[in-house]
Amino acid sequence: MPELPEVETVRRVLKKDLVGLVISDIEIRYSGIIEDDLNYFINNIKNKTIEDIKRRGKYLIFKLNEGYMLSHLRMEGKYFYVPNNSLDNKHIHVIFKLNNGYSLLYQDVRKFGKMSYKKEDELYDTNPLNELGVDPILDTNIDNELIHSKIINKRIPIKSILLEQSIITGLGNIYVDEVLFSAKIDPNRPGNTITLEESNNIIRYSKEILEKAILNKGTTIRSYTSSLGVEGNYQNFLNVHTKNICPHCKNTLTRVKINGRTTYFCNNCQR
Ligand SMILES: [Zn+2]
Repeated sequence: MPELPEVETVRRVLKKDLVGLVISDIEIRYSGIIEDDLNYFINNIKNKTIEDIKRRGKYLIFKLNEGYMLSHLRMEGKYFYVPNNSLDNKHIHVIFKLNNGYSLLYQDVRKFGKMSYKKEDELYDTNPLNELGVDPILDTNIDNELIHSKIINKRIPIKSILLEQSIITGLGNIYVDEVLFSAKIDPNRPGNTITLEESNNIIRYSKEILEKAILNKGTTIRSYTSSLGVEGNYQNFLNVHTKNICPHCKNTLTRVKINGRTTYFCNNCQR
């Protein structure tokens, strides 16, 4: 599943290819991807120019000359930028024809991805972006005490809190495990037991780990391979996720399910 570094990597590649192009036509083959009324979506995006591609959390934001297209890749969503009619398969659900003879294809084996159109004034004030917490890469003035007060308000495991995206956004199953290992926090700990110092460490390591992962173009593991010819390398830097032995104390790592997600941690180093 793409997390913040993988989405950021896709954003950078798409931005290089797409800025300045006009979406001349849209073909929707599976309407479940589109959260809007289909005609509303098509009418607002067709004939618009792609001016920029941004990101918040795990959302891609296509800035058009009027309004925005939001896209969330969820488990398996991928984009391909190819000459018209040069690639097709049954998992391609949305085709954006561009004015240069190329198409942007959206492929999604699991069909969980979502797209929607947002007007200028709706983008950050409506669902889903208004429900996201701070983005450790984009937000430079994070209020540490506010973050801590939100975490200690919850009694669910800290791993679940971080997966929710409402306090800190961008971390998924892989990077939450890595952040909690660096912060020496047991992922099962309820939010209301997390100290201010620990909360500050979560913020600090989220930023550090996500930055390093972006530099390495994300992580390529079984559950996610990028499109657009980009292979991430951060799997070479993972400390605990998918691993057996703690790199710090050589203890055998513990593997448990939290929120149904396989979680790796060291019960010696993480308390
Ligand atoms: Zn250890």
